[in-house]
Amino acid sequence: MQKDIDIKISPKQASSVGSIKEISAVSLGISVNEITAIRILRRSIDARQRNILVNLKIRVYIGENEAEIQFCPIHYPDVSGCPQAIVVGCGPAGLFAALQLIEQGIRPVVVERGKNVRDRKHDTALITTSGVVNPESNYCFGEGGAGTYSDGKLYTRSKKRGDVEKILHLFCQFGASTDILIDAHPHIGTDKLPAIIENMRKQIEKSGGKVHFETRMDNLLVENGEVKGIETNTGKCLRGKVILATGHSARDVYYMLHKRQIKIEAKGLAVGVRVEHPAHLIDQIQYHSREGRGKYLSAAEYSFVIQSGGRGIYSFCMCPGGIIVPAASGEKQTIVNGMSPSNRGTRWSNSGVVVEVHPGDFPEYARYDELAMLKFQEDIEKQTWLHGGKSQTAPAQRMYDFVNNKKSESLPQSSYAPGIVSSPLHEWLPEFIHTRLQDAFKQIGERYSGYLTNNALLLAIESRTSSPVRILRDKDTLEHPEIKGLYPCGEGAGYAGGIVSAAMDGEHCARALAVDIFSNPT
Ligand SMILES: Cc1cc2nc3c(=O)[nH]c(=O)nc-3n(C[C@H](O)[C@H](O)[C@H](O)COP(=O)(O)OP(=O)(O)OC[C@H]3O[C@@H](n4cnc5c(N)ncnc54)[C@H](O)[C@@H]3O)c2cc1C
Repeated sequence: MQKDIDIKISPKQASSVGSIKEISAVSLGISVNEITAIRILRRSIDARQRNILVNLKIRVYIGENEAEIQFCPIHYPDVSGCPQAIVVGCGPAGLFAALQLIEQGIRPVVVERGKNVRDRKHDTALITTSGVVNPESNYCFGEGGAGTYSDGKLYTRSKKRGDVEKILHLFCQFGASTDILIDAHPHIGTDKLPAIIENMRKQIEKSGGKVHFETRMDNLLVENGEVKGIETNTGKCLRGKVILATGHSARDVYYMLHKRQIKIEAKGLAVGVRVEHPAHLIDQIQYHSREGRGKYLSAAEYSFVIQSGGRGIYSFCMCPGGIIVPAASGEKQTIVNGMSPSNRGTRWSNSGVVVEVHPGDFPEYARYDELAMLKFQEDIEKQTWLHGGKSQTAPAQRMYDFVNNKKSESLPQSSYAPGIVSSPLHEWLPEFIHTRLQDAFKQIGERYSGYLTNNALLLAIESRTSSPVRILRDKDTLEHPEIKGLYPCGEGAGYAGGIVSAAMDGEHCARALAVDIFSNPT
């Protein structure tokens, strides 16, 4: 017999299977010896009160063994002789699109401008050690896409957009811990993600698909309003319908589409700074204790959305126990982002804090039409680079100084390895952004005592929060409205934000393409 129960217990009790069994037995009114196994189905921390509790949903097995399968694996067929389709980009959208194509009986041919996940590591290390950004291989470009060197947070607000559970089960099939099926806020960690991504690619190849690294799509082959394939920088043309999953940093793709008058539109995004606190301080605030997280809790998170001047300001991509990384994808730009290892064990906790900006907020960019937000993003990233001393050094300011319009005389140590330099962010960040950030930090300081402090550091600029452009597509067929057989996909096309939603969008596009291919082969 199996029974599902909900219990609320202390973090210490939650760390011991024996304690969980005993509490489950009491809750069910049975002897602990009758329980043959337990499985945790859901886990979340309730830190709203001083007395921190762990909420567990438990499946209790009474007189029977635990069912072995913890996730539902997909069996991928051999698609070697099947019709082929091109997937441009090997980020979450492209990878999950390729896997879904295989499920649909289509042979994916993936092209990725960057290197495989292992070689890519050398280039990300070079950014830190020498300040050199390889425009084809960096924190945004390469196998696994922008999500590879990240926190690997797998929660999404866009649950209605697709089958989140399936995405999580696939991550498990390719090597993620089944903890991600349990935790309310699942995350994988940057140390674990590369191997999982590599396993996904191996499956694509094993099923007869092909992955070309260091191969950049430079143009689309379009005949009579229908895409026939792509041209690449290696001189190779690849033929087939195209899933375009190039991410939000592939500016050359937007420029190419714009030049060819393929319909795109300007899209709002969010811009701000990355905030870094000592992890212990965030633990103290969130767990209401001078002891911080103690022995049984993990590094604390926070998230907020507030309003100021008619705009939302929100925390973005929080990395508890993480580090700040240089996320530039080209020359003369400085961009910061965050990631954490699976144990979330560094001395710092960081989060983006960003202000929504809409096309029209900066009238001086209106003349760029569809590319207005892209130009705005380019300019602010270049300014940041100039203020950082024309290197990957990030301009930084203490939080309390920023709020009080004061340049910081000194800076605390930061996790950002390329280095930081004191800079009066309040003077050069656009007024639209810096005044709202100042107001946001005051409001958050009132909500979380201790948050607004000079022990917190702000690093500029957090600007790659989403795509500055939307590539249009039909809401039913998911094809571009003017180019048949072209499927704009994922974050770069403006239809996803984050690993899970990009993966789900990849699946949607692959299914739509399959319907098309079997009724209308190229
Ligand atoms: C440091 C960092 C940390 C992050 N942390 C998280 C997190 O914890 N959780 C989360 O949900 N999200 C996180 N994100 C965001 C997340 O990574 C993205 O939302 C997600 O990767 C978008 O997926 P995508 O496949 O649409 O695009 P991308 O991941 O950007 O992939 C696009 C791919 O296309 C390739 N490409 C581009 N142009 C071409 C071309 N012309 N030819 C061939 N290939 C091309 C690129 O090299 C890239 O590999 C993080 C991002 C960064 C940068």
